[in-house]
Amino acid sequence: MPHSGQQNIHCIVSDCHYWNQGNKCHADQILVANDAFGSMQPDQVDVNTASQLTPGTAGSCMATCCKTYVTKGSNKIEADGAKRMP
Ligand code: SF4
Repeated sequence: MPHSGQQNIHCIVSDCHYWNQGNKCHADQILVANDAFGSMQPDQVDVNTASQLTPGTAGSCMATCCKTYVTKGSNKIEADGAKRMP
């Protein structure tokens, strides 16, 4: 994990590779972005490049997304740089 605190991310997107029972995200880190960024950037632009990205605005909750989402069973699970915690 990139910081010493325990992450506690609740998520109800159950078809994500990182989703776990109890509606917990088990990714060791995630990237949240605005929808415009998320829809334009490839899977490789994610937590592995997060610190170098230029922040942008969203304007509303509905215009944000979890960029780290990846569908369970996808062949792109390794692309984002996040690790699934036990
Ligand atoms: S990576 Fe994002 S979409 Fe997937 S479980 Fe975590 S918070 Fe939810």
